[in-house]
Amino acid sequence: MDRYLSHDHVALRARVAEFARDAVAPVARELDATSTFPWDNVKAMGEMGLLGVPVPREYGGLGLDYTSYILCVEEMARVDASHAITISAHTTLGSGPILQFGTEEQKQRYLPLLASGEVLGGFGLTEPGAGSDSGGTRTRAVAADGGYRLSGSKIFITHAGVGEIFTVTAVTDPERGSKGISSFVVTKPTVDVERCEALGIGHRPDRLEYMSGVKSGKKEDKMGWRASDTRELLLDDVFVPVENRLGEEGRGFINFMKTLDAGRIGIAALSLGLAQGAFDTAFRYTTGREQFGRRVWDFQQVQFPLADMATEIQAARHLTYHAAWLKDRGRPFSTEAAMAKLYASELAMRATLRAIQLMGGAGYSDEYPVERMARDAKVCEIGEGTSEVQRLVIARHLLRTELEASAA
Ligand SMILES: Cc1cc2nc3c(=O)[nH]c(=O)nc-3n(C[C@H](O)[C@H](O)[C@H](O)COP(=O)(O)OP(=O)(O)OC[C@H]3O[C@@H](n4cnc5c(N)ncnc54)[C@H](O)[C@@H]3O)c2cc1C
Repeated sequence: MDRYLSHDHVALRARVAEFARDAVAPVARELDATSTFPWDNVKAMGEMGLLGVPVPREYGGLGLDYTSYILCVEEMARVDASHAITISAHTTLGSGPILQFGTEEQKQRYLPLLASGEVLGGFGLTEPGAGSDSGGTRTRAVAADGGYRLSGSKIFITHAGVGEIFTVTAVTDPERGSKGISSFVVTKPTVDVERCEALGIGHRPDRLEYMSGVKSGKKEDKMGWRASDTRELLLDDVFVPVENRLGEEGRGFINFMKTLDAGRIGIAALSLGLAQGAFDTAFRYTTGREQFGRRVWDFQQVQFPLADMATEIQAARHLTYHAAWLKDRGRPFSTEAAMAKLYASELAMRATLRAIQLMGGAGYSDEYPVERMARDAKVCEIGEGTSEVQRLVIARHLLRTELEASAA
C-alpha cells in the first residue's frame, strides 16, 4: 500500500490503532450490549482531532487529506464499528455538506464546533417514503418572511438524538421534482444535556441558537451499530432563516448525492476494518486452538478460507484507497466510491460470518467480537445507498462510458 500511504499516514494509523486498543476494545462489548453512546470516547476522539480529520485547520480541523480520514475509520472499525460510524457520519455527513457547499459565514459558524467534536453533526435525507428513492422527499420548505418554514420527518438519522447540527433536505418547489429540493442547516439541543454538561462536550447553547420545532424521536433498537445513535429527526413547522439555506435553492438533492459519494468511501473503509478485524480474530484463534491433536489452523479447510479472506481484504483495500486517492487529487471518484463500498461491504458480511464458522461456538458467543462484527457488517450493505443502489450507480456509469466511446 506504499503507493497510497506516506509516513504521516502510517503514523496516524498507528495512533488510532493504539487508542482503539486501549480505550475502545475494553468497552465495546458492554456499549453494544447496553446500546450506550460512547460519550467518554467521543470526547477523547475530539481531543485527538479524529472528528475533523479532513476539515481545514482554519475551521478547527486537522487539515489532512481524505486518505488520512479513511485510515482512521478503517482502523477504528477493526475494533468497533459503532465508534467508526460516529467518526464517519459526523465527518462526511455532518461537516461534509457545510464544508463543501456552505458560505464562508456558515463555515465559520458551524465547522469549528463540529471539527473539534464540541458538538456532533448529522445528515437528514431519508424519509418514511423516500429511502433509496431520495428524490421522493416530502419534507416541505415553504418561503416565509426572512426564511422558510420546514415540516416533515427524516428517519434512521445517525446522531439525531445526541447531535446538535444537521443538514436536511426539503422541497422548495414541488413542481420541479428532485430539482425542487433544497438543503438547510438546522439545530437542536442534544438529548444528553446532563451528561454532556458533566463532560464538557456535546452541548453548546452559548454558541448555537437552537431552532424551535426540531426534535428527535425514540432511539432505534438495531441489530448492529448498537452504540451509535439512530433516530427520527422531526421538523415540526421549524423557522429556518434564509442564511441557513445551504447552497442555492434547488441544489439540495444534487449536493446531497455528492456528499454520499464521499461518504461511501467512508463506509467502504468501515467495512474493510470490520473484515480485517474478523480476520485478525479468526487467525489468532485458529492458530491457538487445538483439535485432533493439531492446531485448527493446520487443517486445509481452515487455512484456505483465511487465505481467501486475506486476498479479498487486500482487494477491498486497493479499491477503497484508490477511491480516496482520486478524491484527494480532485478527480472524479463516484463510480470508484460505489465499487469500493459495494465490494467492501459485501466482503465484510462474508468475512465476519466466515470468521464465526472458523471459530465454532466461540465465534458465536459474545466472548469474542466477531458475532458483533457480523451484526455491524450488515448495515454497511444498506446505509448510504444499498448494494442494489451501488450496482445501479456502477451500471449507469458503464453504459454512459460505452455510449460516449461509441459517439467519439
Ligand atoms: C443504522 C442506519 C443509519 C442510517 N443513517 C442515516 C443518516 O444518518 N441519514 C440518512 O439520511 N439516512 C440514514 N440511513 C438510511 C439509509 O440510508 C437507508 O436505509 C437506505 O438508503 C435504504 O433506504 P430504505 O431503508 O428506505 O430502503 P428502501 O429504499 O425501501 O429499499 C428496500 C429494498 O428495495 C431495494 N430497492 C429500492 N430501490 C431499488 C431499485 N431501484 N433497484 C433495485 N432495488 C431497489 C433496496 O436495495 C432494498 O433492498 C440509515 C440507515 C440505517 C439502517
